[in-house]
Amino acid sequence: MENNSSNFIKSIIKEDIESGKHKEIITRFPPEPNGYLHIGHAKSIVINFGLADEFNGKTNLRFDDTNPTKEDQEFVDSIKEDVAWLGFEWDGLFYASNYFDEMYERAVLLIKKGKAYVDDLTAEQMREYRGTLTEPGKESPYRDRSIEENLDLFERMKNGEFENGSKVLRAKIDMSSPNLNMRDPVLYRVAHATHHNTGDKWCIYPMYDFAHPLEDAIEGVTHSICTTEFEDHRPLYDWVVAECEMESKPHQYEFGRLNITNTVMSKRKLKQLVEEGYVDGWDDPRMPTISGLRRRGYTPEAIREFVKETGVSKSSGTADSAMLEHFVREDLKLKAPRTMGILRPLKVVITNYPEGQVEMLEAEINPENPEMGVRQIPFSREIYIEQDDFMENPPKKYFRLFPGNEVRLKHAYFIKCEEVIKDENGNVIELRCTYDPETKSGTGFTGRKVKGTLHWVEATQAIQAQFRLYEPLILDAELNEAAQSGEETTFLDHVNKDSLKVIQGFIEPNMKDVKPQDKFQFFRHGYFNVDPKHSTPEKAVFNMIVSLKSSFKL
Ligand code: ATP
Ligand code: MG
Repeated sequence: MENNSSNFIKSIIKEDIESGKHKEIITRFPPEPNGYLHIGHAKSIVINFGLADEFNGKTNLRFDDTNPTKEDQEFVDSIKEDVAWLGFEWDGLFYASNYFDEMYERAVLLIKKGKAYVDDLTAEQMREYRGTLTEPGKESPYRDRSIEENLDLFERMKNGEFENGSKVLRAKIDMSSPNLNMRDPVLYRVAHATHHNTGDKWCIYPMYDFAHPLEDAIEGVTHSICTTEFEDHRPLYDWVVAECEMESKPHQYEFGRLNITNTVMSKRKLKQLVEEGYVDGWDDPRMPTISGLRRRGYTPEAIREFVKETGVSKSSGTADSAMLEHFVREDLKLKAPRTMGILRPLKVVITNYPEGQVEMLEAEINPENPEMGVRQIPFSREIYIEQDDFMENPPKKYFRLFPGNEVRLKHAYFIKCEEVIKDENGNVIELRCTYDPETKSGTGFTGRKVKGTLHWVEATQAIQAQFRLYEPLILDAELNEAAQSGEETTFLDHVNKDSLKVIQGFIEPNMKDVKPQDKFQFFRHGYFNVDPKHSTPEKAVFNMIVSLKSSFKL
């Protein structure tokens, strides 16, 4: 993948190759299959796969599946789909659970070296003994068990003799280390649970901090790239790799997490939104998940370019969601066919157009990409326009339709509003207009000018469609205000209840065969994607990807 910008990790890899420290680099993307990937993960994917590509190395996709109660095959499948969709091909496809035998052997080695012991303290006692940032921890009374006893107990843990939580295997490091991660961290716990990959073979499972560095070492990962919250764990990882006598010694480098405004970026929180029914699944188009963005209509190209623009640095930053929107507009500009759709229809009868006559008009599919050709659209005596494009008593500088005013219909004629029809409640339900045949689009008419250009669809052939309009899922402004006033709220208190609007409108008849994931630019509205979940061959449902307007500047 092309990537011209430099960053600190790239410089390190370059040096490692130039100095001969590594002939080939190996990176990996190591998700835990306990949820769907979000766009923060896309950043990690782009970095890991991008660097390996650039230096002709390899990247593994490895599932960090050491926590059977939270993990599921559904998540494994979705992660594979998302990585591939983003445009990346992994070299090795691995599972931490494939290494459980080796991990067990390495843990036994630690016991034999006097570097690990079985502890009977309860989780609560262990927390108490752990100390704090300012106070050293206390050694467990079980810390000095003999190697023989530890070997025996660990084997019996494996054999299923103990209840969940009754015993753990801990590293014997230093209870007074200033780094809390080094205060005899737990390496193995008892968990009688069925694993999505190993079934009931194991009832003890390695802890992430023990498993993760071993996984990297087993695969010969050279540059183990992760986010900064693991920086304090690095000394422990180095300890594990050294004490377990792993041949290959991965080096870890940390970069700052990606956050985006007006959303949440943590699987735990996203899971809550799904499970508590705030959204319609992990792939809800309002979610920052890869599957949600895909369903909304974002493209892999747009996501990759966005993520690259956010850069790689030590500090985590919050990117403006407008920046992500900018990249999808850029990507779709030349690709998406233009079309006209009416989201809130108002009927217009053109009284001087011959009754029963329908003419076909030609319109370019994408004026910014003429190679896409032209389409045919019907025009007749009855059309729909947007309710918003008419005002009975307009303010100054209103150039759209109002009584007595003339506007241009895109690709068609000038029309003039002659009469307003209302229902018994005074609502405008129809306009009567006249058109001027001289003003036909494409004929070079220059007789007079009008200031407004409206989109429209011919009424008798128009196809009904559903439009789903989105607003941000989380109201940052509200959330920040609450935080500042000291109010105790969670992100769930600031979910935007108006983040989805569903409306019924009309589209051009040439769109009768649209397929899920087809993308269009609806003239004057924005970019839309055919929703793969709700669309049927009978009725298309469009997700609004992004509007046309933006104040965002790169
Ligand atoms: P979450 O906190 O959302 O659950 P995680 O870090 O627990 O994410 P993992 O499945 O462990 O999720 O992540 C796989 C990789 O993706 C890790 O290397 C992690 O550092 C990286 N990653 C996760 N979130 C982000 C983010 N917001 N920005 C960049 N990288 C991320
Ligand atoms: Mg995690």
